[in-house]
Amino acid sequence: MKKDIALIMREILKYSNDLPSVSHNTPFKVLIATVLSQRTKDAATEKAAAKLFSKYPNAKSLAKAPTREVQKLIKGAGFYKTKAARIKEISKAILEQFNGKVPDSRKQLMSLPGVGSKTSACTVVYAFGKPAICVDVHVHRISNRIGIVDTKKPDETEAELNKIIPKKYWLSINHSMVRFGQETCRPRNPKHQECALQKQCDFFNRKGKWAQS
Ligand code: SF4
Repeated sequence: MKKDIALIMREILKYSNDLPSVSHNTPFKVLIATVLSQRTKDAATEKAAAKLFSKYPNAKSLAKAPTREVQKLIKGAGFYKTKAARIKEISKAILEQFNGKVPDSRKQLMSLPGVGSKTSACTVVYAFGKPAICVDVHVHRISNRIGIVDTKKPDETEAELNKIIPKKYWLSINHSMVRFGQETCRPRNPKHQECALQKQCDFFNRKGKWAQS
């Protein structure tokens, strides 16, 4: 069945009409929190980020911070040793290569140590309000469940979504899919009965490799 992208987006956007706020945090905090969020639940990321930024709120302070202390502050985020090393490297690179200012282009962001497609997209969206499709676990899961993409990795999902999702939705898609994924299309026990996308959804209709067994 051909997917009705406009209908799918209309339903998903109902979960969050607001465009993401760009004034809530500094670009540095958005970038570092996105690194902390890798393979970590939202609540644990928020806690670790709050602890870290209460002591080291910018690139200058974090670049100089003792590694052990950084590890201790972000321990709740998982993979904390790797992440501590990574966020210190990023802070140093921002200081040395960008005068302490987080760049607003994806190309420049991806020149920072360990910053890939997802982190750069999330940063331009949430720190600078620039359109990009930020593919986190929710966007990857939901896009494959519905069947608008058929991919294994988030980077592949982003490339496919870039082709089929009109640009006017890019800024909101992550924000609204995250809400949809937390409230209805949950990782476990999705609430199919509350979902307006049943007819569009391969997972619900038991089609495709992402379908339920
Ligand atoms: S029908 Fe179920 S699996 Fe499909 S999008 Fe809705 S909640 Fe998710």
